[in-house]
Amino acid sequence: TATTPILAASELSVRYGKVEALHGVSLEVCRGQIVSVIGPNGAGKSTLLNAVMGALPPAGLAVGHIRYGGEDIAALPIEKRVARGMCLVPEKRELFASMTVEDNLVLGAYRRKRAGDRNFLDQLDTVLELFPRLAERRKQAAATLSGGERQMLALGRALMGKPDLLMLDEPSLGLAPLIVKEIFHIISALRRTGVAILLIEQNARAALQISDYGYVLETGEVALSGNADALAHNPRVVETYLGLA
Ligand code: ATP
Repeated sequence: TATTPILAASELSVRYGKVEALHGVSLEVCRGQIVSVIGPNGAGKSTLLNAVMGALPPAGLAVGHIRYGGEDIAALPIEKRVARGMCLVPEKRELFASMTVEDNLVLGAYRRKRAGDRNFLDQLDTVLELFPRLAERRKQAAATLSGGERQMLALGRALMGKPDLLMLDEPSLGLAPLIVKEIFHIISALRRTGVAILLIEQNARAALQISDYGYVLETGEVALSGNADALAHNPRVVETYLGLA
């Protein structure tokens, strides 16, 4: 049903040696929802996404449950999670700088191609429609793109894989306000495709504006959670995260 979460993490803890970066975090995301995790630098936001994806650095040790599509995937390696439709767009966008925009997009469909999906390029037109700037620049090397266009390309490449769960680590980082607005507008529009989106952001105001639900992560624990509207009006959230933004 629509209310069954596609992702449900419970009592998730992560440590890097003696440092515990995440402590007993529980979180849910449903299909067609945008769920954001806000919180200060070092709160454990990236660690949370990496743990869900199975992409922690070797020093990172995760314990707890991660249910995805009804299955506990906590022990699965990253490639099996990718094969099940999970996709993480990391903060460092990891594009192939010397390759063209179009070739970067095509690479995003590589897993589908290898899995024998004959229609592996069926998202290309959709992505180019969603990002007209990429369409205009499809034959240009990725290295020639602006910061905002690179973020668009990273998002577009992720969409080529037709993910069921899209996890975005700070998509607005380092971008000019106008571009941030554009990126958030596009993320918001993705909801209609039915994909579930887990968004990590320091830009709390913009994130809550497009989200259905939100979590505030502080020193590795969920300090607050609730409907995005309610969170955006919560006096503590306003004072700590929205006051000066
Ligand atoms: P930021 O947005 O600044 O990256 P964050 O909320 O994403 O912050 P994390 O990057 O997840 O936070 O870091 C959480 C804590 O874990 C921090 O104290 C950080 O120093 C520590 N940490 C993160 N990665 C490692 C690592 N590879 N080895 C050791 N400690 C780490």
